[in-house]
Amino acid sequence: MHRGRKLLEQLSECVLVCEGAMGTMLTAHGVSYRNTGEVNLTHPDVVGAIHRAYQEAGAQVFQTNTFAANLGMLRRAGLADQAASIQTAAVKIIRDAVGPEAYVAANAGPTGDLLEPLGKLSYDEAVAIYRQQFEVMLASQMIDFVLIETFEDLGEAQAAIEAARAVDPEMVIAVTLSFSMAGGTTMMGVTGAQAARELAAAGVDIVGANCGDLDGLLVAVRQMGQAVDLPLMAQANAGNPQLEEGVTVYRATPRESGEMAAQLIESGVRVVGGCCGTTPDHIREIARAARAGL
Ligand SMILES: [Zn+2]
Repeated sequence: MHRGRKLLEQLSECVLVCEGAMGTMLTAHGVSYRNTGEVNLTHPDVVGAIHRAYQEAGAQVFQTNTFAANLGMLRRAGLADQAASIQTAAVKIIRDAVGPEAYVAANAGPTGDLLEPLGKLSYDEAVAIYRQQFEVMLASQMIDFVLIETFEDLGEAQAAIEAARAVDPEMVIAVTLSFSMAGGTTMMGVTGAQAARELAAAGVDIVGANCGDLDGLLVAVRQMGQAVDLPLMAQANAGNPQLEEGVTVYRATPRESGEMAAQLIESGVRVVGGCCGTTPDHIREIARAARAGL
């Protein structure tokens, strides 16, 4: 049995805590990069230390540093020829850091291109991009589930789902969309209810929201809970982004992130973590909310 199934069983009786931001922590460590995935090759020790810091803060579910390590994003950074080594390194780093018992997700983010007809990327090309990523990562046998996250377009998410299924039909799949609009829709106008129904119909095991707007995320997650009977996952940013001297910053305190997590758990969320701007201190407070929540 896939360990992802064990995770799903656990969610019926407890809240699991996921780790927080990787990019934010890489910047805090003074690491620069063209693509966050590149750091798996240039600074594997830093990536491992960040995963471990989240584990020490109470995280139980981890995500490989491969959010941008798909061929679409890597091509843009001139790193396409290193895709497989970046993806393989991510899995080894995370398993070495968090151990064999922790849950590890293969993280997949958007390609960076819009699908036709809005953009130039065809659906089949998108499937091929994710197939390359999942073939490499799932071959390691060290992945418990696939996490498709920060998507605004259900069509692109569907391409990633199809690719994961093609590589391993039994793999547990979680999909979280980014609801960038405060009213609870993605940039493409998808609502939480619509997303949850379509993802459930596609056979996804866990649905939810991450990144985006804080209010939008909460509205969407609540809609999802009413629309489908699936475990919910949410990873909110540390507040809404603010521009300070040309730099995007997230100013929510760990305590505020803990309060947000409490609201999410109250709304039915069973996997709760952090997105942009969150640190191990934020995850510590989120873990506290998770322990108090059930
Ligand atoms: Zn984010």
